[in-house]
Amino acid sequence: MENYLDLTIYEIHKALVNKEVTPLELTKEALRRAKENKDNAFELILEEDALKLAEELSKTDIPEDKIMYGIPYVAKDNFSTKGYETTASSNVLNGYIPLFDATVIKLLKEAGAILIAKSTLDELAMGGTGTTGHKGITYNPYDSTHERLIGGSSCGSAVSVADAIVPFALGSDTGDSVRKPASNAGLVGFKPTWGLISRFGLFPFSPSLDHVAYFTRSVDDSALMLDILAKHDDNDYTNSFKDRPSTYFDYNGDVKGKKIAVIKEIYDSIQDPILNDAFNVSINELKNKGAIVEFVSLDEKLLKAIYPAYIVISSAEATSNDANLDGIKFGPYYGGKSYQEVMFNSRTKGFSNLIKRRFVLGSYALMAENQEEVFLRAQKIRHLLVDKINEIFKDYDAIYNLASPSIAPFVNGTSNKLSSEYLIADNWLAIGNFGGYPSITLPIGFKDGFPFGANLTCKPFEEIELFNIAKAIENGTGLANISARNSK
Ligand code: GLN
Repeated sequence: MENYLDLTIYEIHKALVNKEVTPLELTKEALRRAKENKDNAFELILEEDALKLAEELSKTDIPEDKIMYGIPYVAKDNFSTKGYETTASSNVLNGYIPLFDATVIKLLKEAGAILIAKSTLDELAMGGTGTTGHKGITYNPYDSTHERLIGGSSCGSAVSVADAIVPFALGSDTGDSVRKPASNAGLVGFKPTWGLISRFGLFPFSPSLDHVAYFTRSVDDSALMLDILAKHDDNDYTNSFKDRPSTYFDYNGDVKGKKIAVIKEIYDSIQDPILNDAFNVSINELKNKGAIVEFVSLDEKLLKAIYPAYIVISSAEATSNDANLDGIKFGPYYGGKSYQEVMFNSRTKGFSNLIKRRFVLGSYALMAENQEEVFLRAQKIRHLLVDKINEIFKDYDAIYNLASPSIAPFVNGTSNKLSSEYLIADNWLAIGNFGGYPSITLPIGFKDGFPFGANLTCKPFEEIELFNIAKAIENGTGLANISARNSK
């Protein structure tokens, strides 16, 4: 069989409609690739049910207007899936089987997509390395020696698309958890405006920052997916009531006269000449197509405060939201003489160090005597920053910078946590979560055989504008639909 899974969603759909391939054949191949993969990407492979559904869908003609029909996909294991164990890669949730599907899982089911696996993540979606989940490290498929990370927290979903096991995968993005691994894996990683895609059934981490997000291998596929997922949902009380366009695919890559801002301090904090050259080339491409690209300045102190503010706000929200992980309602029960002791036992055994650290920090920030000094201060920083970004958006249509200061990091690498490179370039993507802006990472080059990406962020609800400019960038780089499999 030709390798249809190496194609984009749109191309696979065409092949399905033309009967070159069936949902069953596609699903069998996706399962074969999933089982063959050695990067530790999966919590659960749903072989039996995926095959059953694929067989069912193969019995009739493929509806031409249902792009996702018969297409296999993977979901991060922090989406509720009815009847399937869902642990968010945490021992605290071992054995937990949800009673309902997350809204996005339901929408994809209705669209005819076939869920073939639940993927690994950094425990409870906290973290950016893909190393803290209860199944251990998830590796980068561009490196069969397993020296490099793919990054997280949506590590397994990133592997699934980068290794062409499936053409798209669901993830979640609270600080950068889809848009950062996308850079390490040569993928298009997108998160929408806060409130556009329902989060019902996505395990909360930090609800004022959480977004459903996803990986694809092209900008077109990213836009196609939003058509399916951006539906209003009364089950999510933070879901926007704003009218959605009938199609997010309504763009043509025309950037004539578009004004794009590059934040100078982010640009200056990145030292790698290969990454910087590729970024400059993509800026020139945009200019050649008629866009106006200019440097703007943002207070370096404020940029350096993104990560501390993010950690305080997200940890505080997480401590409070995850209070229900007490060893009684979900997951294994370890016993104890009092409620406190039961909770103590299950949390001691159930959480990794990273989670414990963040909960200590979150609780500290929320204590009455610390709130003003820690929690409210972080909120003020968030506010100041969003004000500044909104000011930039008065004059510009988009903000564009490298998504990361480096290619995929080494498993045993170290970084200087107080350097500008770390504090600014490694963590600026959280701006997209602070302000709830639509934001997309896409590949713009390779170094030592590893891809790297740039990120484009637009005003709230300006998704079409975002895809439009992203398409122009993708046309310029020619890096649509790349995968580790293609480059081997
Ligand atoms: N890397 C960030 C963190 O450590 C982002 C996590 C996320 O987006 N879920 O929390």
